[in-house]
Amino acid sequence: MGKGLSERPPTARRRVVVVGAGLAGLAAALQARLEGASVVVLEKTDEARSGGNTRLAGGTIAVPCGSGPWEKAAYVEDLVAKAGGRCNREVVEVLAANALDDLSWLGAHGARFDPATPIAPYRVNAAHIAPAQFVGMPAFLDALRSSFLSMDGAIAHETKAKQLILSGQGRICGVRAVDRDGVVDYLADSTVLATGGYAANRELLESFVDPNAGAMVLRGASWLTGDGLLMAREIGAGLTHMGGLASLHVAAVSPENPRYGIPDHAVPYCLSVNLEGRRFHDESRGYVANGKALLRQPAQRAALVFDEKIKQQPRVSKSLATFRRLGLPVIEADSLAELASRMNVPPARFLRTIEEFNAAVEDGRALSADPPKAALAYKVMTPRFYAFCPLIPGITSTFGGLMINSDAQVLEADGRILPGLYAAGEVTGGLFCDDYIGGSALANCMVMGRRAGARATGRSAGPDATVRSVPEQQGALEHVGLGSDVLLRQNRPG
Ligand SMILES: Cc1cc2nc3c(=O)[nH]c(=O)nc-3n(C[C@H](O)[C@H](O)[C@H](O)COP(=O)(O)OP(=O)(O)OC[C@H]3O[C@@H](n4cnc5c(N)ncnc54)[C@H](O)[C@@H]3O)c2cc1C
Repeated sequence: MGKGLSERPPTARRRVVVVGAGLAGLAAALQARLEGASVVVLEKTDEARSGGNTRLAGGTIAVPCGSGPWEKAAYVEDLVAKAGGRCNREVVEVLAANALDDLSWLGAHGARFDPATPIAPYRVNAAHIAPAQFVGMPAFLDALRSSFLSMDGAIAHETKAKQLILSGQGRICGVRAVDRDGVVDYLADSTVLATGGYAANRELLESFVDPNAGAMVLRGASWLTGDGLLMAREIGAGLTHMGGLASLHVAAVSPENPRYGIPDHAVPYCLSVNLEGRRFHDESRGYVANGKALLRQPAQRAALVFDEKIKQQPRVSKSLATFRRLGLPVIEADSLAELASRMNVPPARFLRTIEEFNAAVEDGRALSADPPKAALAYKVMTPRFYAFCPLIPGITSTFGGLMINSDAQVLEADGRILPGLYAAGEVTGGLFCDDYIGGSALANCMVMGRRAGARATGRSAGPDATVRSVPEQQGALEHVGLGSDVLLRQNRPG
């Protein structure tokens, strides 16, 4: 540090400093500003790259199917079940209570959505940021940023938060940051951490997940290194859900474009087939379970197969449209044998796989297939035939993070509140475990970000309601057991 750089006076004290300008950070900043607080957002990148994984996201936001108590309770049950019951249920209830209102709130700040679609087989809807998957996020972030700036909010780009500042009374009273001119202290009554996940932090992946995890293909931004998590841990914050493969979101993606080449919507309707031409798991469990099952397959490569009829499913055609738009290969053939040879899998084995699966399909399930398919089972028999091929596993995001309560307050490992410190979004842990329903990460950022902003200004009003009623069990998901971790052997690009 050059002479004089550390001698800059601290900034004027503000009510709230927010670290990170992704969805969680901007939602917190907007809400805090709406409460009348003076707010500054610190963002370590320049404006063009700011927004971390939010900028790169597909744009699906998981919301309840309706505003009634049954729909909200069903949303809670399905999200909790998807985490194997190992999640902070109170936070899920806050999501259920607020997600639809908060979607309208984002709309009022310039966000544009396509009509919501159901996320089968769950009792959850997907709102989609317009105009298409992976297209609308920069404009979405621009809209939120403009709205915040128009209310005299401040954003300091290229300003990296390095350390939390503790007062003599043990309250967090701001952030020490570094910008082009050196160190500067941003003093504030409350601090909101919204620095995103740690998928790009090799040390954290290799220590907490698997010695080989640092070599996996990364789908997100390369500078999301868990800064907020590390800063908070330094002053005693507890971490949760960091262990093993259960702490990662893994998806099967095209090696040509791991970031955007993802057939996530299509997975539950199709057949996932490995290099030997065999199915290897229940595709109806969704695209994260599919991505993790792929880690255990030969060469960690697979294909996702469907026919002309399955192609008509809106969520399958949505994934197809994404691949077509990106110019990514989708194999097509008039016969299954031809498809097998183009996929480079043994045709005889592949044909037997399809034949056995088709014979097992009954009432939308294939329970006697090996492995069984519990839902969304359709015979693959109508030409033309298609395959997203090849697909490899890639890390999308991280599920572990800071312990928080349902008011977004950061907790020590023994449950004590760290006064003055809030966190929201992917920097927090405890909401997802092993798997999640697509779109619930952005739902978490939206709802808990807004809530952190309100609470940071001392407001208990605003987004407060929780959902407590339990839905009828019919249609609810069973809690699934967690698989053991496996060795991961992908290479990171670049
Ligand atoms: C390719 C891809 C597609 C995805 N699609 C979806 C989807 O469709 N639906 C869904 O629900 N989820 C999706 N996700 C996950 C979701 O995008 C993220 O979980 C979510 O955007 C995280 O938002 P956030 O605000 O917590 O963090 P981010 O959006 O990552 O923002 C964090 C910000 O903090 C800044 N920052 C970090 N450290 C510091 C520091 N020390 N000082 C200052 N600033 C700092 C970063 O530069 C960044 O701007 C996807 C993820 C990826 C990678």
